[in-house]
Amino acid sequence: AKRAGRNGYAIFDPTMTMSVLEEAQLRSDLEHALEHDEFLVLYQPVVDMQTQSVTSVEALVRWEHPRDGLLGPYHFIGAAEANGLIVPLGRWVLREACAQLASWRAASPAAARLKINVNLSARQFQYAGLVDDVAQALADAGVDAGSLTLEITESMLMEDIETAKRTLYALRELGVRLAIDDFGTGYSSLSYLKQLPVDVIKIDKTFVDDVHIDADDVALVDAVAGLGQALKMQTVAEGIETDAQWSTLRNLGIDHGQGYLFGKPADPTQIHALLTGVGAI
Ligand code: C2E
Ligand code: CA
Ligand code: CA
Ligand code: CA
Repeated sequence: AKRAGRNGYAIFDPTMTMSVLEEAQLRSDLEHALEHDEFLVLYQPVVDMQTQSVTSVEALVRWEHPRDGLLGPYHFIGAAEANGLIVPLGRWVLREACAQLASWRAASPAAARLKINVNLSARQFQYAGLVDDVAQALADAGVDAGSLTLEITESMLMEDIETAKRTLYALRELGVRLAIDDFGTGYSSLSYLKQLPVDVIKIDKTFVDDVHIDADDVALVDAVAGLGQALKMQTVAEGIETDAQWSTLRNLGIDHGQGYLFGKPADPTQIHALLTGVGAI
């Protein structure tokens, strides 16, 4: 159901049941939004933990709602996932992000080695046309597959392991890189992880929050860093907000970092400025 949120926004709460009417209304709002270009993508920098230089950006979708203003994914991703509109929406984000990367590269040599990370939803991951969509988005933007990393969560892999494996290998065949998002919050077994063509592990923010003061979190992050090394996967820590968190994670050998300390999700112009060293976010 929709209820008034903290800012008075209409919030889709997946734990509440929506009436058939509410569901139909939100579906048609989302369809309208797709047709009328109400979605936009912000980009959050991912940096090298040693140098703090930007190596990639993560595409994060927003809805510029005509009445409620700028809405974050929490307000609509769940609903779009439930009614299937996440497939065309996700395709739009993917195409937009690839086109944006091409445009940064055309504008400045500073973006030549920049990469892009795009989130996939469970439904998109199960969609039979995914691999074709990805190939098409890359070809239309003129971006090499190695510049794109797709982020998936552990639970998406666990649903139907054999199909998931086939999809991952098909994406790998294209040359796309794969990341496990929110790592540590799901249930993936190590033996299983070993069999998958995963390039990047993103350590969830919940392990980062207290890592500078909590020995348990240090032990957990240390274990994931070791896992990354053993399996030749890169590690990214999410949600870094302070210097203390940053230095702790850097000392634990985490490769990359993402978080408000380095930059909030920003529009393409701000990212361009960040890359070319003109101004800060
Ligand atoms: P995520 O993939 O784990 O993305 C990271 C989220 O953490 C983003 O929230 C980002 O703004 C936020 N974040 C980053 N650094 C910090 C920090 O230092 N402190 C705090 N407090 N937060 C930080 P956002 O943009 O609201 O996105 C929320 C979730 O929505 C994402 O979590 C992702 O699961 C989903 N999402 C966003 N864009 C897309 C999309 O295009 N497709 C799909 N399927 N899901 C998306
Ligand atoms: Ca993500
Ligand atoms: Ca994440
Ligand atoms: Ca998360």
